[in-house]
Amino acid sequence: MPESAACFSDQGWLYSGPDLSCRWRHSPHHNARPQGCGPQLVVIHGISLPAGDFGGPWVDTLFMHGLTANSPHGLSDLAGLEVSAHFFINREGLLTQYVSIHDRAWHAGVSVFEGRHNCNDFSIGIELEGTDSIPYTAAQMLTLGRTCQALAHDSPGITAVTGHSMIAPDRKTDPGPAFDWKSLADQLRLHGISWRIVPTPA
Ligand SMILES: [Zn+2]
Repeated sequence: MPESAACFSDQGWLYSGPDLSCRWRHSPHHNARPQGCGPQLVVIHGISLPAGDFGGPWVDTLFMHGLTANSPHGLSDLAGLEVSAHFFINREGLLTQYVSIHDRAWHAGVSVFEGRHNCNDFSIGIELEGTDSIPYTAAQMLTLGRTCQALAHDSPGITAVTGHSMIAPDRKTDPGPAFDWKSLADQLRLHGISWRIVPTPA
């Protein structure tokens, strides 16, 4: 990894580098990982609020505990919901970090990966702004690759990347058929990352 690439602070927040800038927002929706448990898995998600609307403030508002009974677009139903992810990548590829990678973000919910339950304990959650059926943007995939590069450098315990639907198949469909696992494989190869991709791209 070139020394100029983005890296993490001692507190687990991603510094901007020449190829990747990261905005920090401290979500209240997190807690400590179990003692001795570091990141071992990356979970890819897709989200948009309202669904299919891009560019609005509502995912940020959700993660920052800002939705209320008066929120528009039917989002009042989500008031009080305590969810977050470590990272959010918007359609333009802009990256925001909401939770330190040392901490446990609340993105996976009831989940199991290869027999291990409670994936939030041992994973990094990355949300891409999107839907299951609209292709994610090239800018998003570039930022995702660079974020993975920084994660691989900081957290050698990570060995795999998967999708939310793979670890919560009864409840979740994201990131959906629109997510191009082959493109992710290309990004990982570009950055010399040897994580297993589950599912394996055809
Ligand atoms: Zn999800």
